[in-house]
Amino acid sequence: MPKYTEIKPENRADIEAIVGEENVSTAPEDIERHSIDESPLEPHPPSIVVSPHTTIEVSKLMAYANKHMIPVTPQGSRTGLSGANHPVYGGIALNLEHMNKIIELDEDNLMITVEPGVLVMDVHEKTEEIGLLYPPDPGENSGTIGGNINTNAGGMRAMKYGVTRDFVNGLEVVLPTGEVVNLGGKTVKDSTAYSLIDLIIGSEGTLGVVTKATLRLVPKPLKTALIYAPFESVEDAAKAVSEIIRRKVNPFALEFLTQHAVVTIERYIERKLPDNSNPAYLLVGVESNSDTELETALETAGEACLELGAVEVYLAETQKQQDDLWEARKAMADAYTAFYESDEADICVPRSKIPEFVEKAMPLEEKYGVLVIAVGHAGDGNIHWSVVRQDQSDEEWPVVLEEAIEELIEISMELGGTISGEHGIGYTKKQYLALKVGDKQVELMKGIKNVFDPNGIMNPGKVFP
Ligand SMILES: Cc1cc2nc3c(=O)[nH]c(=O)nc-3n(C[C@H](O)[C@H](O)[C@H](O)COP(=O)(O)OP(=O)(O)OC[C@H]3O[C@@H](n4cnc5c(N)ncnc54)[C@H](O)[C@@H]3O)c2cc1C
Repeated sequence: MPKYTEIKPENRADIEAIVGEENVSTAPEDIERHSIDESPLEPHPPSIVVSPHTTIEVSKLMAYANKHMIPVTPQGSRTGLSGANHPVYGGIALNLEHMNKIIELDEDNLMITVEPGVLVMDVHEKTEEIGLLYPPDPGENSGTIGGNINTNAGGMRAMKYGVTRDFVNGLEVVLPTGEVVNLGGKTVKDSTAYSLIDLIIGSEGTLGVVTKATLRLVPKPLKTALIYAPFESVEDAAKAVSEIIRRKVNPFALEFLTQHAVVTIERYIERKLPDNSNPAYLLVGVESNSDTELETALETAGEACLELGAVEVYLAETQKQQDDLWEARKAMADAYTAFYESDEADICVPRSKIPEFVEKAMPLEEKYGVLVIAVGHAGDGNIHWSVVRQDQSDEEWPVVLEEAIEELIEISMELGGTISGEHGIGYTKKQYLALKVGDKQVELMKGIKNVFDPNGIMNPGKVFP
């Protein structure tokens, strides 16, 4: 790593001159808040928290940091799960929460343009009230659009619509040198040489600061319904995922939960789900503009579940019933954080390999003496494996956790899978990068990083081992 400059009083004064004194903080509570994300990683405090309000301020700040060799770590809502926003070399935590304006909702072009600190739930609300939909729907809807773009966030609707990358049409980016570039725009098609916009998406704040984003929208389907199906075994539920896909139902969401997850969620949200007495569960969300099509999809999905070992098929038709189930599903990660010590591997395999993955992964519980809880977006092959501490001592736990996660990743590689489906490499998974992409691709990626950020000030210590 390059030699970075410690921030001195004169640097602070210069930074205050750029963004205003009130937008610079070294107060202990601010330093603490900006030292973490939602991963179980130990905090990494920045030296200073800087909260710009405009692209010009970000640009001047980056030029200053680049000149003075001060590391800069962009941060959204800090809901990430891989330590990607931890300021591991101190320096500036660049808090983008105050750049939170919805700039334009363009119904003619079906696009919305926002500042990076706008929350994904605000984009949903703003678009859905006029019958449009921004499909990416990560489990944590208080994440920012800037964070979602930089982690290429996925979520519940990815199996039908795709991930954040598929809905980013234009970006304004401040480079580490302070230069401002506009990538893409509002055209639906663009074959103009290399796609730099695609390099920024998923780059985890290591190439530049996203200061504006134009996102694609689609018409919102008029009707939705949801199946909650308990299964006699985890393996049966995993097989039903493939069967529902094979029968061409095209759900917008297909989520998988184990009994342990259902019971943990119920304890956390303090209410019961329709059933908690079976080993595994599927949530199947379908949507359409016509009643007939919706009914056909529900019937086909329901039959597939029953034929593959579901003991019952509960149907949530009213909006309230559906919202209650989605709220429960989205509470899962918080429920585990509240009651257990755990970490997760956000693994993605080809969807047809889910039954084999489950079969190979379950014996790890006995091998390592931990709970291995599979929950997630099974419809797109993205299972979040939570490794939950049992009676390991403080010395044993980190070793056991790392070995179990490494073995889950190895199984995923054998099955043609990937290390991270949606949470990114960040800090916690960087040691596994070459395992997936190989040394040549790591070399190419480092070359790209170097072109964007020759001084290495942009979110250093991330992605590369
Ligand atoms: C309960 C829970 C459920 C979750 N469910 C999902 C899920 O279903 N799908 C999913 O994909 N994720 C999920 N997440 C993870 C998390 O919400 C996402 O990774 C989200 O994209 C992070 O956004 P953020 O605003 O919190 O960004 P942060 O965590 O603050 O930052 C994430 C990364 O983006 C960079 N960054 C942030 N803003 C900018 C910017 N403007 N310019 C450049 N870089 C920037 C940071 O440097 C960092 O590398 C979940 C998290 C929780 C806690």
